[in-house]
Amino acid sequence: MVTYTRWVKKIQNGHRGANELRGVGYMSPKERFMSALYGGRVDRPAVGSATSVISVEVMDEVGVHFPAAHLDPYKMAELAMAAHTVLGHDNVAPLFSAIHDASGLDVSVDWGDRTMMPEVKEHPWTEVSDIKMPPDYLDREGVRVPIDAIRILKKELGNRVAIVGKVYGPWSLAYHMFGVQDFLIWTLLEPDKVRAILRGLMEIVVTFANAQVEAGADALCYGDHATGDLVSRQMYVDFLRDLHKEIRQRINAPLILHICGNTLDRMPDIAKTTMTCFHFDSSVDPAAAKAAVNGKISLMGNIDNAVTLLTGTPADVRTEVFRALDAGIEIIGPACAVPLTAPMANLLEIRRSVDAYIAGR
Ligand SMILES: [Zn+2]
Repeated sequence: MVTYTRWVKKIQNGHRGANELRGVGYMSPKERFMSALYGGRVDRPAVGSATSVISVEVMDEVGVHFPAAHLDPYKMAELAMAAHTVLGHDNVAPLFSAIHDASGLDVSVDWGDRTMMPEVKEHPWTEVSDIKMPPDYLDREGVRVPIDAIRILKKELGNRVAIVGKVYGPWSLAYHMFGVQDFLIWTLLEPDKVRAILRGLMEIVVTFANAQVEAGADALCYGDHATGDLVSRQMYVDFLRDLHKEIRQRINAPLILHICGNTLDRMPDIAKTTMTCFHFDSSVDPAAAKAAVNGKISLMGNIDNAVTLLTGTPADVRTEVFRALDAGIEIIGPACAVPLTAPMANLLEIRRSVDAYIAGR
């Protein structure tokens, strides 16, 4: 594994990326990220992401690739560091995929390859009584590896760069374990079954989350696929809002809620969950998002990944970054996991645009 110290040397010798080491601002990346997360004072707007920023070009740069980086804690830690050392972000996020939580639950998993993210191959559960957390859950490979990677990152980065772990909430975990279609039908026909499933899965979520915090995560991405297209605002309020509040109280670190799609209609509800930050999609106008949460929760993300980062130019990225900065978005970054084939120039442009914005101020 190439250590953080060796990366710093490489960068000081003219390697591209990690502009922060060339000295903009007085805060450490972690101070900046954590302050921005809580909506506090910063020396410059924070740059970061709760979801994966790893692309094939970033993998090539580091010399570590998927799928090995999902299942080897040293490789996972080294690739995660690239968010900071290559892309100049203020945080790193070692859980690149969406299936670590489920992989510890007797479900078969396809760990993908360098151009494909992992996915679960089946949805084995049908009844509430099927929900069981194996006694050795935290020791199972897909669960243990990210916990170990966080421990390695904590040792490598100390307090310099923020470490963001990741869990999927009971809604997402239910999609994996019971299947999206069945689960969504039950929300209409058997709402009590859905409530029992969410409550049963909550224990697994809290266990994995607190193990990551204990290993050294400063904050956690909390993903729940209550997306604008599939789940209405009313469903979010009926099934998830209070559960999100309860989960927040049981996890010993700030949570960054991540939900894809257009979530503008439920942002005022999300702002009441006591989550620390909301990582939101590019389909929501950043100024409208700011108005909807009314200062109750910080905002992160918004730079479009499916079109702008994947097929746009650096100039397109800059336009979106400036729009998010004008709106006062606290942490600037991709709206969701970046497409694996997104060009490096576009990924680097996020941090460069933030620096250019401050220079022009
Ligand atoms: Zn997403």
